Amino acid sequence: MGKAESFDFTDMAKYNSEAQLTPGSSRKGCFISVYVGILILFLVVCLVLGVGLLIYFARTDQNCSDKSGISEGTAAELIDKCKDFIDKGDTTLCEACTKSTSAIPVTTPAPSKLQDVRLPMSVLPELYTVELQPNMYEGPPELFTFNGSVRIRVKCHESTNNITLHINKLNLTEEIRVTPVGSSFPLRYKRHEIDTKRQFLIVYTTASLQAGQYYDLDLSFIGPLKDDLHGLYLSSYRRNNQTVYAATTQFQATDLRKTFPCFDEPAIKAKFDITLVRKGHLTSLSNMPKITSDNRGNGWIADRFKTTPPVSTYLLAFIVSDFNYKEDKTANNITYRAWSRPEAINQTEYALSVGTKVLTYFEDYFGIPFPLPKQDMIALPDFAAGAMENWGLITYRETAMLYDKHESSESNKQRVAVVVSHELAHQWFGNLVTPSWWDDLWLNEGFASFVEYMGVDYVHPDWKMFDQIVVEDVQDVFNFDGLVTSHPVYVPVSHPDEINEIFDRISYGKGASIIRMMRFFLGEGTFKNGLKRYLKKLEYKAAFHDDLWYALGNQSAIEQKNINVKEIMDTWTLQMNFPVVKVTVMADGNIRLTQKRYLRDYDAVDPGKYVSPFNYKWEIPFTYTTKSSPNFNQTDGDIHWMHKTEQEIITSNIQQSHWIIGNVMQYGYYRVTYSDENWNRLIQQMDEDHTVIHSVNRAQIINDAWNLAKSGDLSMTIALKTVNYLDKETEFVAWQAALRELGYVDSMLERTALYGPFSKFMRNKVSGIFNPSSLSSSNFTHLESYVNTLIAAEACKYGLQSCVDEASRLFKLWKQTPHSNPIRSSIRLTVYCSSIRHGGIEEWDFAYKMYQQSNLASEKSRLMLALSCSKEVWILSRYLKYSLTPSEIRKQDATDVITYISKNEIGRGLAWDFVREHWSQLLKEQGSVLYKFSRLIAGSLTKLNTRYELRELEAFLRENPDMGSGTRAFQQAIEKTKSNIKWMDKNYDIVKQWLVDQGFLNP
Ligand SMILES: [Zn+2]
Repeated sequence: MGKAESFDFTDMAKYNSEAQLTPGSSRKGCFISVYVGILILFLVVCLVLGVGLLIYFARTDQNCSDKSGISEGTAAELIDKCKDFIDKGDTTLCEACTKSTSAIPVTTPAPSKLQDVRLPMSVLPELYTVELQPNMYEGPPELFTFNGSVRIRVKCHESTNNITLHINKLNLTEEIRVTPVGSSFPLRYKRHEIDTKRQFLIVYTTASLQAGQYYDLDLSFIGPLKDDLHGLYLSSYRRNNQTVYAATTQFQATDLRKTFPCFDEPAIKAKFDITLVRKGHLTSLSNMPKITSDNRGNGWIADRFKTTPPVSTYLLAFIVSDFNYKEDKTANNITYRAWSRPEAINQTEYALSVGTKVLTYFEDYFGIPFPLPKQDMIALPDFAAGAMENWGLITYRETAMLYDKHESSESNKQRVAVVVSHELAHQWFGNLVTPSWWDDLWLNEGFASFVEYMGVDYVHPDWKMFDQIVVEDVQDVFNFDGLVTSHPVYVPVSHPDEINEIFDRISYGKGASIIRMMRFFLGEGTFKNGLKRYLKKLEYKAAFHDDLWYALGNQSAIEQKNINVKEIMDTWTLQMNFPVVKVTVMADGNIRLTQKRYLRDYDAVDPGKYVSPFNYKWEIPFTYTTKSSPNFNQTDGDIHWMHKTEQEIITSNIQQSHWIIGNVMQYGYYRVTYSDENWNRLIQQMDEDHTVIHSVNRAQIINDAWNLAKSGDLSMTIALKTVNYLDKETEFVAWQAALRELGYVDSMLERTALYGPFSKFMRNKVSGIFNPSSLSSSNFTHLESYVNTLIAAEACKYGLQSCVDEASRLFKLWKQTPHSNPIRSSIRLTVYCSSIRHGGIEEWDFAYKMYQQSNLASEKSRLMLALSCSKEVWILSRYLKYSLTPSEIRKQDATDVITYISKNEIGRGLAWDFVREHWSQLLKEQGSVLYKFSRLIAGSLTKLNTRYELRELEAFLRENPDMGSGTRAFQQAIEKTKSNIKWMDKNYDIVKQWLVDQGFLNP
């Protein structure tokens, strides 16, 4: 799945203190009640055994395979066998292995009961023949439904008296039939039961089904067609005061079972024959091309689609809409179409051009042609995530696919390119080769999140995507992964709520970061050929992460590099957090390395949910460079491995008076620290001539220093000095890294006496670089525009007069000629926000009118955000009221509006009061869209930093113990507030002294 936007705030504040939140609070995440939590905990414990077993198998030794009767074979073959055993619930092999693996402890000890929420494997589907008909043409939308039928051709693999599959929220309408294929036996249906807890439909038969025999299972059903964004759901948009309806789908992770009964697990692949029934004025779409359209009478048309290849259930897609399309062909002759509302069809061109290029690039890079005859992409007005990689029919929210050359910003453009590339990467990683179970979700999402950079880099090499990944993913996810409440990328999950919860920054961002590190230590050629080997071997099948380690390891053996990929990568995937490496140059010129687990707060109590199998030691590909011979262009040949040990010595002859930098280009997923003397040498270098150090390592120095200061590993005084040189900085990544940290300081100081002097410091850093003409000129490259946008946002935010004046002037011009906006599109959010903040009701009402009239999703989001910048209490209160009035603000945007208002220093109290006052309504209306609701809680409470506020929060939790999906987010808000208080206690006086030293505050 594509990342959901936590914000469409990218123009102004990519580095917003949002980034400081705890895991799961951004992009996507779901939350569970205490009771469900207990159930899940039990299920986790059950599943952990299975995980532990797989871990054992992955390192099965000869002894083990002898005992279990497995004949000799390659490690990969053993894994295949082990997967079969686990699927069948056979633990004899596991016991044999357990006894012989004393070297490395299991992740967590646990009893056995793996199969609880998993389907039995005795009967499996081969082909589904499905017909679906959405009924959304008459009557009130609350009563819309869909109905349909499915025939599932199943094969019996083990004699049994029942067929167990998934079902959720459907009513069966006709008698169930079970018919043996190719024989004249009578029907075998006896009775059925529905286990709502496990979402199972269990169909019992009159006589046992025989192994090797095929059966047809026939089911008919009806279900509600609601606007709940999951399963087959109702989408709508407005045209000339009329509501236009469409039916569309989102099945990942476990919602196909809401549309028809099915075997809804990723590894259970089957072929699908789909028929969609629609009214004549609409169009239908599915994964495969349409082959026939039959007239059913009364205006109904039945469209039948070509049979799919074997595919996982979560990758299907069905759409009935009145959308239009633009069409192109890829270099390899695959039909590529981009669909949208007819009004927005011209905004599809950019996504189409990126899509056709990137699809061909990936075919070439992965060495496997795209297996379907067509690829559709469609922009939907209502969509929960950023996008979804359904095979051959990728769905997007509008802001992730639509782009208007004149109206959209450069960051809108990059977001479209990135999401298109991400979803296309999934066509191989996920769709062709699918993780056996959701615990390896990171294989899907981590890979797509890394490969997306490769695709965009291919189309736009000048965007320096491989520099950007350092701030967008590596440093971003460090924030979440430095907490004791993080989780390993490979994580046992079972219940659907728990599965949804791991669509988070760890699976995406850490997954991408460690794959980037792996590409570096393997070398590009080995990485690429190993991937080809992995994909080819497992195409149309399911994979376990060890399959990938062995494919890459074998490739490195062929090339005589002999890198033990599994041994290395296990340390990065089976334990959470990451190391900090201390680099010391010794008197003899050698380098001493020591490693320890980095935690933002060393006093935090580890909840003990995950136990490290490696005692929090890592296999670290260490690199360094020095002042005497700076080299930022290193390869795998320059690596010094630091093993799972406390200390390593690198023989060298470094001059002690010269600086040294560890982790060149921040390829490794770890932080680095030094003696204070070396930190000061690096700071001195940045002050004198920062260009000697590559911009990626400048970003790294800032990010490491500030976060080591947060954890107490480094003095805050040194961290503060790393940003003094900023008035000379012109590179995006370094600014981004710096502003992420300064944004946090800002949010802490916002309501204190230091805010004035701090604002003065910020104005001082940007005043020399800011140019008022950048607000309207369009003469910039992509990355120049990124930097200018950041600088202008800071300049206006901290009240640099030339920025505020120019923004007001341009806004006035726009008001006079609403149809020709003179503001550079990339900088509009800053200009809107500044003008609304310094303006009154007239500016606000004009912007609100423009918000309602805009046909471009990204312009709408930035206006929605800018409207929260007002300083007038009554205007903000009215806007809060609008958020719960669907005729003013769409229901899906309500929590965003409240969150935005809570970011405003004046709106914060208002929003918090509003949330408390409308708590039950919000819980009822927004609680089902879990990730949004938790984002609201996390977003509106993130800046609290006084003991009084902490007491208020705790009291609220006592009064409202059952917060449903908001529980975890609320607990995290309390944890966050505590750490903010700590920061204030520790750093307020240091920051004060620093502002005095710089001359921004009189002592
Ligand atoms: Zn994805």
